[in-house]
Amino acid sequence: MFGRSRRHLSCWLMASMGTVLVAFGGLLYVTEIERELKALDQQLGHKAKLLIGGVIYSPQAGRSRPTLQLQTSPLLGKSTLSIDSDIVYVRWYDVNNQVLLFAGTLPSTPVIVPGYQTLQPKSGQRLRQLTIPIQADGQTLGHLQMAVNLLPTEVALRQVLLFLSLGLPVGVGLMGVMGWWFAGQVMRPIQGSYQQMEQFSADASHELRSPIASILGQAELGLITASPQDQQTRLRRIAELAQSMGDLVNSLLLLMAGNQARALETCNVTALVHQLAHEFRPQAVAKGLQWQLEVPLQDVWINGELALLHQAIANLLSNACRYTLSGGQVTLRLKQQKSQIKITVEDSGVGIAAADLPFIFDRFYRVDRARRQETGGFGLGLAIAQKIVRAHSGNIEVDSEEDQGSTFTICLPRYPQKN
Ligand code: ADP
Repeated sequence: MFGRSRRHLSCWLMASMGTVLVAFGGLLYVTEIERELKALDQQLGHKAKLLIGGVIYSPQAGRSRPTLQLQTSPLLGKSTLSIDSDIVYVRWYDVNNQVLLFAGTLPSTPVIVPGYQTLQPKSGQRLRQLTIPIQADGQTLGHLQMAVNLLPTEVALRQVLLFLSLGLPVGVGLMGVMGWWFAGQVMRPIQGSYQQMEQFSADASHELRSPIASILGQAELGLITASPQDQQTRLRRIAELAQSMGDLVNSLLLLMAGNQARALETCNVTALVHQLAHEFRPQAVAKGLQWQLEVPLQDVWINGELALLHQAIANLLSNACRYTLSGGQVTLRLKQQKSQIKITVEDSGVGIAAADLPFIFDRFYRVDRARRQETGGFGLGLAIAQKIVRAHSGNIEVDSEEDQGSTFTICLPRYPQKN
């Protein structure tokens, strides 16, 4: 589960960062196109201005309107122009769009649209063309049209594109590797929780599997037996197993919900301990145990969730009664100290071996697994008690020796705090 979540997180990171990277690459390419075209247009405009400098306006005698005259200049010959090698053509048009002078190629049909255009000739390279009007005294005398080859610009842009198309997949791949590493770092603190959750689910399903199998077995046998008495027995067993499963499910829910006390209230622990004594005394006496209760006269208060605290102490009392043989003693004690209160459940029962003590608060841990049928425990009682006590900012301690009995003590902060 941890590996899958890490994979998902790194995929999301790679997808989001990759999208940003691709968008950035696209933007870079568009900006590069604009930049290259702008530079080319500036060059074209500059050359056009130089060529226009070789032309002067000169009114011809006897003409009603001024006409375009070409003055001899270093740039201009009589009928041909000396032009740079990167210029594909230069054409001079008069006011009637008739070509006066040109270099390079002549158009079949002149198209005079002032401004910059990108042309795709039927054969050959794409061109960038500039057409500018030649004006004098506010009148248009003609047009200058010139074009350069777009190939060098396109080659430069193709190199940018090649760099991006090679660099982007490498970048996205690197994002993936980084995402995997990053997801591992981010999820490291919760890796333990994932493992615990997996263990918890595995343990819970394992515990549920055996009563389900027993219920099925009993039901199948009940269906094939003809004796009503036998059926009665099996139905009773099914009811017991279902009850036990219900208890287990409740315990599991408690274990999951016990992380935090939700309905905090001021609780009278003296009253709570009296109530628990009232509930457990008959059970202890019925088992032949001596029951002892030590509670201060005054009321003791804490801040907590009464139902959860009741459950935690009840689990300890239930264990004390369960693991103490007839003739033994169970004591429930409440003590108030300066800043905390202590609830102690002491028994003279079977005790716990030193080797088992570190594990008894683990979920599903049972010292004697073989005795589970006898005692009916799932190994969840202490885990639940500890979780509840911790949720109340307290702690639970154990002191036990094999065959000498056990003492479990719940310590909780006192309310109101007195220093
Ligand atoms: P269970 O439901 O099996 O009693 P718990 O979590 O309450 O599970 O206890 C875990 C194990 O700790 C028990 O299986 C039992 O072996 C041991 N244990 C708990 N309380 C006592 C006790 N008062 N005396 C002896 N052993 C105990």
